[in-house]
Amino acid sequence: MWYLSWIMNELTQLKEKLNRVSAELTVLYEISNAMRTTLKLDEILYIILTGVTAHVGLGFNRAMLFLVNEKESVIEGRIGIGPHTGEEANSIWAQIDHQKMDLEDLINAYKLMNKDIDSQFNDLVNDIRVPLNDKTNSILAMSVLDGMPIHLSPQTIGNYTNDPLLKIFHIEEMAVVPMQAKDKVIGVILADNAFTKKPITKDDMRMLIMLANQAGLAIENSMLYEQTLVMSRTDSLTGLWNHGYFQSRLHTELEKAKTDNTALSVMMIDIDDFKIYNDTLGHQLGDKILKELARTIKGYSRNMDYVCRYGGEEFAIIMSQTTKKEAFAIGEKLREIIERQPFPHEEILPNKRLTVSIGISAYPEDGTTASSLIDYSDKLLYEAKHKGKNIICY
Ligand code: GH3
Ligand code: MG
Ligand code: MG
Repeated sequence: MWYLSWIMNELTQLKEKLNRVSAELTVLYEISNAMRTTLKLDEILYIILTGVTAHVGLGFNRAMLFLVNEKESVIEGRIGIGPHTGEEANSIWAQIDHQKMDLEDLINAYKLMNKDIDSQFNDLVNDIRVPLNDKTNSILAMSVLDGMPIHLSPQTIGNYTNDPLLKIFHIEEMAVVPMQAKDKVIGVILADNAFTKKPITKDDMRMLIMLANQAGLAIENSMLYEQTLVMSRTDSLTGLWNHGYFQSRLHTELEKAKTDNTALSVMMIDIDDFKIYNDTLGHQLGDKILKELARTIKGYSRNMDYVCRYGGEEFAIIMSQTTKKEAFAIGEKLREIIERQPFPHEEILPNKRLTVSIGISAYPEDGTTASSLIDYSDKLLYEAKHKGKNIICY
């Protein structure tokens, strides 16, 4: 008889374990499916942390994701999902329960909104920059350098009081899991249960490690994709945006200008007598000048401007929210800077200096389509050449 009850007991335990493993696999399957729906890095990162924090996912109270910036030798906070305070936690969870949101709903909600996670917690995470080489004072650096998951329980966390992260986020217990792509650690996920204080179990760690393995590959794919995208839009000689991107960007910015009822200017810049320069000094030196000039124009333009190489020795700048008068002031300054900038052997040119001519057109007065704005600034550029070069027509 005792034997039968022992078997029944074993069976019940096995069934529970099976149910749990099946639920875990379903969660991982759903998260990895969601990761496959996009190649955009910000969306991938959001999906990963939604998987870590959602009740229907791994169910941690909060999670943060950090990426390794090898160039600057730092670990940078990229996204944080979770409430900032206990009250916020209760209200968010009540809302999610009330709306019966599953993982897919949560992810779709993000894609629909502005992708600005409007939370104090996310802002705090985004400000974090930890030196990569300082293992002694940073659990993040330790996890990246050793490539090992770390579970700090309330008992062992006391050994790491020097880590400022613990104070900033009032962490009492946490899981830190590195994300790898091939054999390199590219980032770390940190998760805790700051509000429910639910202890982190071995199963929690196991799930987080499995999720982090998939996350690492998804992040690497997405980074490669974004790099390729930037490369396909960049001019290889000057590093400026290329002609194709100029066209598509101008359409987009013009639509925005129309919707927001703001101005937009297009500045076309062409080097004066560049053929003479090239024919006399060779195309290699000509290319060097193009690079230098691109650097000057980019350096002088504002962060909001799109500086493009329109064609051979022509540059175009898209200036959103900029009237013609404002664009003229910027263009005139730029023309003067280029006139004064020394270039090798420029004395061979008719003006004895390397100079540029500029044409500026603006929305709405000169045209309401991309093509009409380009045509008009081209026409003005031609006029500037006729008037003797090294001037702006607008
Ligand atoms: P203008 O003052 O009327 O502009 O005279 P220009 O000689 O500059 O004439 P244009 O604007 O038509 O410039 C064409 C010349 O620019 C032809 C070629 O020598 C040079 N050029 C165009 N693309 C490149 C390039 O990629 N590299 C180099 N080195 N030179 C180029
Ligand atoms: Mg030209
Ligand atoms: Mg020219």
